[in-house]
Amino acid sequence: MRVYYDRDADVNLIKSKKIAVVGYGSQGHAHALNLRDSGVKEVVVALRPGSGSVKKAKAQKLEVVSPAEAAKWADVLMVLTPDEGHAKLYNDDIRGNLKKGAALAVAHGLSVHFRLIEPREDLDVFMVAPKGPGHTVRAEYQKGNGVPMLLAIAQDATGNAHDLGLAYACAIGGGRAGVIGTTFREECETDLFGEQSVLCGGLTSLIQAGYDTLIEAGYAPEMAYFECVHEVKLIVDLIYEGGIANMRYSISNTAEYGDYVSGPRLIDEGVRKRMKAILADIQSGRFTTQWMTECAAGQPSFKAMRRRAAEHPLEQVGEKLRAMMPWIGQNRLVDKSRN
Ligand code: NDP
Ligand code: MG
Repeated sequence: MRVYYDRDADVNLIKSKKIAVVGYGSQGHAHALNLRDSGVKEVVVALRPGSGSVKKAKAQKLEVVSPAEAAKWADVLMVLTPDEGHAKLYNDDIRGNLKKGAALAVAHGLSVHFRLIEPREDLDVFMVAPKGPGHTVRAEYQKGNGVPMLLAIAQDATGNAHDLGLAYACAIGGGRAGVIGTTFREECETDLFGEQSVLCGGLTSLIQAGYDTLIEAGYAPEMAYFECVHEVKLIVDLIYEGGIANMRYSISNTAEYGDYVSGPRLIDEGVRKRMKAILADIQSGRFTTQWMTECAAGQPSFKAMRRRAAEHPLEQVGEKLRAMMPWIGQNRLVDKSRN
């Protein structure tokens, strides 16, 4: 696996380009502001009329245009809108407008890898995928650091796609931490698998099942919340800092022994088999087809699941307990009025 740093890139390649960032959400604000602060002179933000993000971009003195205008103007068009809308955005605003030989870029491989968009052959197509939320990409850049990023090339029409993509990644801070070369397939499939089986799906189901088990056994909700929700962060911080062994070094011997004997009872062969099934659904495109069908229908079951999940009693208990710990809310990265 090749890792690139600032010294491997020619940032001048990107500084002279006209760059349009479509979307001004988590990633959009970070890319646009970091590019500008890295000396890219011509950066515009593209948003649809009436978008709530317009005033946030304008407050940062960024020029805002429509996606179609941006596509006509740009040398590099970075699409930072939700993945499920990429096909429509590409077909309506980009395909007929982007200049010959321009670069189309994304921050996640889903729409390109699963052919939801089929980029014109004359375009360079690259991915720069920060391995962190946009708010961290911005905050670390401002501190002089960077978030590691992945770089992949799907189409190299000009012969310059790699160097351009690398320069882009460095201009948003990736070269300070390391830019890892990968492929659209690898990024996309591992990303979906990670979020479904471990980070989002696996973790939240584990937390809820643990919480529910204690409640059903008659324990106080506050106790269940502290033990099965709140303390997740304390454990994850230790893993994040130094791996699982570092976490086990810090916890008590009793906790560590319980970890060894009970963890595998829970996450057994059956779970591993179902993880493989989840991965197979991702690789075959079945998951993406299902999600796009859901989107085409207006996301009815997605919205219903979101509403039901938010009504879980754990959320109310958490709100009450977090109020006892005001430091949790300090130094927040996300300020919804601004970014
Ligand atoms: P957000 O949901 O935070 O932001 C979406 C932005 O796009 C909003 O400003 C929204 O404004 C705008 N938007 C939506 N539809 C359109 C449209 N058709 N035309 C123009 N603007 C539009 O997105 P994220 O930053 O989370 O995700 C963007 C991309 O980055 C995705 O591909 C995602 O996979 C990738 N990514 C995200 C990460 C993250 O940390 N969130 C991490 C790594 C990659 P409005 O709706 O008001 O029009
Ligand atoms: Mg991910």
